[in-house]
Amino acid sequence: MMLEKLRQEVFESLMELPKNRLVTMHSGTVSGRDPETGYVVIKPTGFRYDRLTTSDLLVMDGFGKILEGTLRPSSDTETHLYLYRHRPDIFGIVHTHSPYACIFAVLGRPIPAVMTSAALLGGEIPIGGYAAVGGEEIGSEIIRKVGKCSAIVMQNHGVYTIASTVWQATIDAVEVEDMAKIAHFAMLHGDPIVLTPEQIEEFQTIYRTHYGQKE
Ligand SMILES: [Zn+2]
Repeated sequence: MMLEKLRQEVFESLMELPKNRLVTMHSGTVSGRDPETGYVVIKPTGFRYDRLTTSDLLVMDGFGKILEGTLRPSSDTETHLYLYRHRPDIFGIVHTHSPYACIFAVLGRPIPAVMTSAALLGGEIPIGGYAAVGGEEIGSEIIRKVGKCSAIVMQNHGVYTIASTVWQATIDAVEVEDMAKIAHFAMLHGDPIVLTPEQIEEFQTIYRTHYGQKE
């Protein structure tokens, strides 16, 4: 099989989605891009998470030509390929319809930066306009609106996270839902305090220098 390591990474990320209640039944997609070949590993469409194996994942080139795999690829494939072509810095994409983030999607509102964890996502999570599924419309809207953020909420649809690794995009998808949940409940009680751009920048600096284990 081609790209075994990347397949494993995409598979492990996919398994996190139902575990973290970010998807129901068949929804959601994860993909990863191999930095050397530019090939993309992506989930098959309409496939049960609990039956998925690494060999069910598809490998394709940057334009959707299938190089390995017999199943039909995710219905969201065009979006992922568009994003990889327009953002050479990203190597992992996660898409979910996670419910708390989708509250903001149906209100057409960004998710406010109410937690320090927002700093790691780039601040307030922007809202993208409504875009039809299946073509390049979602991808181009994401490129227009995402800015420096690693996540975006698409109106009436769901969340996309884009990152330098598949695993990072997965962590970001969990963080977005977490923050959306807290923001949602806080807004029921009043106006939540939103972090200032200075506080976000300060937290980003602290995080870069102090968080995580040394390599
Ligand atoms: Zn979707």
